[in-house]
Amino acid sequence: MGLIDSHAHLTFPELRDRLDEILTRCDAAGIDRIITLGINLDDASSAVQFARLHPDRIHAAGAFHPHEAEKVTDDLLTAMAELWDDPCVVALGEMGLDYYHEFAAQNTQRSVFARQLELAALRSKPLIIHCREAFADTIPMLVEHGFEGRPVVFHCFTGSTTEALSLEEHGWRISFTGVVTFPKSTELQQIAKSYPYEALMIETDSPYLSPVPVRGRQPNEPAHLVHVARFLAGLRGVSYEDIVEQTAGNTRQFFDL
Ligand SMILES: [Zn+2]
Repeated sequence: MGLIDSHAHLTFPELRDRLDEILTRCDAAGIDRIITLGINLDDASSAVQFARLHPDRIHAAGAFHPHEAEKVTDDLLTAMAELWDDPCVVALGEMGLDYYHEFAAQNTQRSVFARQLELAALRSKPLIIHCREAFADTIPMLVEHGFEGRPVVFHCFTGSTTEALSLEEHGWRISFTGVVTFPKSTELQQIAKSYPYEALMIETDSPYLSPVPVRGRQPNEPAHLVHVARFLAGLRGVSYEDIVEQTAGNTRQFFDL
């Protein structure tokens, strides 16, 4: 069993025309599978197409990213919910709130997130949450929509120890990107070091966030997941093979792959 990149954007312009070479480099690096996420309806439809082309390698997820909130209409929400029922779609997301970039007004982000949570609550697929500096609103909205104890992952977690513990208390997970390899990420490294092994999942968030030692290289790509895995193996004092097996097993189980 190889690694699984639980969060990438293969449909983004930086990556979408290079899919074959990206998959070849995944073969060489031992990356078995990739979950690719679409951030609006067109992008999520492309993600589903990628998954149909490579059913043994690529799985799709989709939702309206908080950055897209200003463009969302009722018709688009209905169409997204229909796409969620496609068998290639393994998770609903990424959705949530981003008060750091704030590319859309906060109240618009909250209303789009709430509408998606209503539709997601009727389905049994896991949620992938994008949350930047917005835990105080995101957590109660998930609880209000009945997601306590349901499968929810806060991807690319960069919050505090307190926030990580709070998510754990609600029965939710976090996943780790290349940010954990950055020298300044000392608190995040402590969180990753003691994070429950049976819940640990990793991702690249390609084309962003290239990990050390390829930090700064653009675009990031799923083959670079080996660096995140190797770093975590060192941090936790386990073998590389052990991290590969554990995180891949956790990811398969969480997303029912
Ligand atoms: Zn993403």
